[in-house]
Amino acid sequence: MVRDSKKDDRKSENVQFEPEIVWHNVLLFAILHTGGFWGLWRLMTFQISLSTFIWSLAVAFASLEGVMVGSHRFFCHRTFKGNTWFKLLVVVTQTMAGQNCIYIWSRDHRLHHKYSDTDADPHNSTRGFFFCHMGWLLQRKHPLVKLKGKNIDMSDLEAEPLVMFQKKYYYLLYTVFAFGIPVFVPVYFWGESVSNALLGPYFLRYMLTLHGTWTVNSFAHLYGYRPYSKDIQPVESEFVAFISSGEGWHNFHHSFPWDYRAGEFGKRWNMSSHIVDWFASIGWAYDLKCATPEMVKYRVNKRGDGTHPSSQREKYDDTDDSTVKENMKTLLEDQSHSKFGEDDTEDIFGEKISSEGFTILNRAIA
Ligand SMILES: [Zn+2]
Ligand SMILES: [Zn+2]
Repeated sequence: MVRDSKKDDRKSENVQFEPEIVWHNVLLFAILHTGGFWGLWRLMTFQISLSTFIWSLAVAFASLEGVMVGSHRFFCHRTFKGNTWFKLLVVVTQTMAGQNCIYIWSRDHRLHHKYSDTDADPHNSTRGFFFCHMGWLLQRKHPLVKLKGKNIDMSDLEAEPLVMFQKKYYYLLYTVFAFGIPVFVPVYFWGESVSNALLGPYFLRYMLTLHGTWTVNSFAHLYGYRPYSKDIQPVESEFVAFISSGEGWHNFHHSFPWDYRAGEFGKRWNMSSHIVDWFASIGWAYDLKCATPEMVKYRVNKRGDGTHPSSQREKYDDTDDSTVKENMKTLLEDQSHSKFGEDDTEDIFGEKISSEGFTILNRAIA
């Protein structure tokens, strides 16, 4: 149901807010970090077997990509399409990551893009490093997050049976895929102790993949350059790209959220892009959307902070703009509808254009 957002805006002017800690979550995170650091100590002192270490890495890799490729680039931003096998794989690996179901993850993330770094952003980075890194999960949501969250269009995910199945049975699925399988496999197949199987592939792996994901909301909104849009908070962060398998090119990503590479120099520290390319090569992923070099150049010169290697800000000639726009509109005709529609700010020309205008189909692999 789409609500009256003007009415909500009026309501939001009067929002009073006192942060309130959710002690239940504080306790859960305390347990997680205790287990995680204990696991790290056992790993550093060689008490965990090599097989269990490799298994932990494999679970970490699968679950991180389930979030980055699956939740983020595929279901939330719809940057490419996938077949049923691909969707099934995403649901399993994303559940393994234990970052809530795809539906809620995507709703929060769409909210983050739509109202970035305002009170309606669940992890508003203007509230400080700790808040946007993990503090937002330890306290009640700002009333504006709840209010604006109700306006986010989730109809595409409501039409995905696998996503809705995961939402309905999330706790059961979590128990099986995030906890059960990671712990069971080392105990059953190579006789690892139960405590090591809990501390390594569950606690330590879980803690590290969560922090890896959170760096995107903290570091990549705070420390770095803004070559594509100097008027937004997200930045380019090589460190975060390295940690998060390619999500650190965040100024680019917020400028072109429909681009499956989530970064212009998409192949540097961007394992997630390679993975999408690989799934495209076997036909499980298709219709990959990608910004053209002209679009990027236009954006860099129009709104960038001048740090892009090709930046010509000083000498950029605006007289050509209308031709560039016309060319792009022609190029973009007949493209599929992006979930980030007319109401959003992800415009490529620095102004609002039709929702069809900012999706582009690029069979990069086929
Ligand atoms: Zn962001
Ligand atoms: Zn995003």
